[in-house]
Amino acid sequence: MDEKYILYARKSTDVEDKQVLSIEAQMVELRKYARDNGLIVIDELIEKKTAKVPGRKVFNAMLARIQNGEANGILAWHPDRLARNSIDGGQIIYLLDQVILNYLRFPMFQFENTSQGKFMLSIMFSQSKYYVDNLAENVKRGLRQKVRRGEFPGLAPLGYYNHPKTKMLAVDKPAAPLARQAFELYAKDESRFEDVAAFLYDNGVKTKGGKPWPKDKVKLMLINPVYYGHFRYGGEVHEGKHEALITKKLFDRVQAVLERRCRARQKLKNEPMPLCGIVRCTCRMMITAERQVKRYKNGTSCAYVYYHCTRKSKTVRCKEPAVRSELFDEQLANLALGYAMPKAWASQLLAWLERDEAESVCIGERQANDLRQQIVSLSEKLERLLDSFLEQDIERADYLAKKAKIMSEKKTLEEKMGSILLGQNTWLEPMKKWIETAVSIWEIAKSDDLVAKKSLYLEIFGLNLKMEKQKVGLAAEQFQISPQKKHWVLLRKTKEKAALAGDNFRFGSGLVAPPRLELGTQGSSGLCSTS
Ligand SMILES: [Zn+2]
Repeated sequence: MDEKYILYARKSTDVEDKQVLSIEAQMVELRKYARDNGLIVIDELIEKKTAKVPGRKVFNAMLARIQNGEANGILAWHPDRLARNSIDGGQIIYLLDQVILNYLRFPMFQFENTSQGKFMLSIMFSQSKYYVDNLAENVKRGLRQKVRRGEFPGLAPLGYYNHPKTKMLAVDKPAAPLARQAFELYAKDESRFEDVAAFLYDNGVKTKGGKPWPKDKVKLMLINPVYYGHFRYGGEVHEGKHEALITKKLFDRVQAVLERRCRARQKLKNEPMPLCGIVRCTCRMMITAERQVKRYKNGTSCAYVYYHCTRKSKTVRCKEPAVRSELFDEQLANLALGYAMPKAWASQLLAWLERDEAESVCIGERQANDLRQQIVSLSEKLERLLDSFLEQDIERADYLAKKAKIMSEKKTLEEKMGSILLGQNTWLEPMKKWIETAVSIWEIAKSDDLVAKKSLYLEIFGLNLKMEKQKVGLAAEQFQISPQKKHWVLLRKTKEKAALAGDNFRFGSGLVAPPRLELGTQGSSGLCSTS
């Protein structure tokens, strides 16, 4: 049977979708992808609803048409465009299992219709937000569009100004030496932020209120890569087209001084932070810690830490009792251990990832090689052009015009190549990190490292822990600000399945999504099945 695709583009007004390509951009990229890969697209569908909850009209209509045999493939930008809830994700996988849906194509993700491919896909569906957060590629695309429009993201820092016409950063001739000297001053390791601020103040650099710069502002300047020619955008450092004011070497020296000084300060207040601000009381206020010293009649004393409700609500009088830190800590650790990934699973997953990585590196290298050849041929063209100009075969004006055109083409190709090399496997790293974290739970949960524990618990549970009558557990309702992420739920469910199945359990083999997913429970499909 022929491959027939429905092209599906989706973007909602969700905060989560902020960094996703616009529908128009998705369509452009998808059409190009279809063309490049010779795919037959029978229809193009657009949806402007969130995929967090089931019940999207266009999506459901698409699945119905696939069930009717109109098409047997879907082309979308990324798995997260198709599903962000277990029901829709389960439906897709179910249709794949029934061989009603045969092909899924994503420019951002390689999918093959095997049990292993479906397994990866089900993780993608449940983890898609996690990926989107980390998809630097999306950010870069947005930025590339910005750069194409000639806009530099943000206000020019000291030493530069936003050129009103080109919208690029331009060197502010009088201020540039001051910025440079500020870096040199700090690199000597004899000045504090205040001293740098005073130096700038003496040279006329002041706040709007006519005061010296505050410490934070000085620090922000000293860590700003813009000064050596790069710039930070979307949490990433990009190469800029503007002129650098200092060398990377000077910048690095300043960073070394900064780091040394920060560490010296941290040592002073090295007391571990207790596990505050991650568990809620039944009255919805946060649980906090308190140190109490008990004095005995014989003169000795003993310090305890208790966890209790902050009782900050003005309307509810909370009577939940306090709990001793040992008990609190132990309960949290036990909860977390339910999410620890067995080491054997981790190595299996990592092996699959490595295979995928090798494949996509291969593709990236092929593209880069093509570009490299085109760039070489442009360079040769330039040389021939210069030759004919020197031999007075062409006019100067002609020469300049042609040269400018070739140069600009070359720069575009070079940028494209840079982004291919940069953009490789942006989704692999977060996935590996997640696996690492999931395995590290075994150790962290048993350790005394409260700082590591706190960040681990926030990562796994979000802000969904609750304490009731001295018992810590997961809250039934998901708090809006920071819900528990689905990939953790999926991992725990899979562990439960494995425990039930015992020796019959085979990780990742013969993935089956249950035909009917219970509404209201999330991630009920689990990562795999029993054979
Ligand atoms: Zn309370």
